[in-house]
Amino acid sequence: MLLIDIYVIVLGLLLGSFFNVVAIRLLKNQSVSFPPSHCPSCKHKLSVFDLFPVVSYLLLRGKCRYCKTKISSLYPVGEMLTATSIFVVYKVVGLTPELIPALILTIVLILAVLTDIREKLILDVITFPALAILLILRFFIGSEPFWFYLVGGVVGFSLLLLIAIVSKGGMGGGDIKLYAAIGVALGPWMTIMSLVLASFVGTIVGITLIAIGVLKRKEPIAFGPFIFIGTLAAYLVGEEIWYWYMSFIW
Ligand SMILES: [Zn+2]
Repeated sequence: MLLIDIYVIVLGLLLGSFFNVVAIRLLKNQSVSFPPSHCPSCKHKLSVFDLFPVVSYLLLRGKCRYCKTKISSLYPVGEMLTATSIFVVYKVVGLTPELIPALILTIVLILAVLTDIREKLILDVITFPALAILLILRFFIGSEPFWFYLVGGVVGFSLLLLIAIVSKGGMGGGDIKLYAAIGVALGPWMTIMSLVLASFVGTIVGITLIAIGVLKRKEPIAFGPFIFIGTLAAYLVGEEIWYWYMSFIW
């Protein structure tokens, strides 16, 4: 493993720690930068030793150092999710201009997961800026012309809107707007594949959770994590999946 690989992982962990805070505070309509990090239970200001991603959580055995209240395991999960996905994206895409839209896409997907698993919400304050930045970036960066990515955005938005109408609210407004941003990043074909993969994985996980009794039959399930998986899979190895699938059915 190269030094830069370790650097990217550490950076990913720190970013993940920051994204946890961003997700929680934006859900509560609070400022992201103020007040400084504190225990949500006893309000004690956290020292630098409480803020090492994953490591602090393990050393403190998942409890606040000051009041011993249990810390949500979503914190280390968010940190590891961020570090892993940023590292994989960096490794597959490489140090090319494409890495910029790739990272913007990855970040908006991570934040969507973090807000969706907490409150079943995907926030406009995250999705809209990402959509705008991706539109601007796709003007300059991409293997296809700009209109291709524009069509991708329209396809992503329309597909999800259609599903929302047909399923009568099975898909939230946040999912629809997120898919506009995904479409701009991926273009139309991989956007469709992303949705197919997300639905496929979501269905399997949903059925499994119902079968083992974790989830009730009518209980809604956050789609964000499956959008994350489907989109990154389509973006990073979509062509490979497509060729594999074609060789399979022929
Ligand atoms: Zn505390």
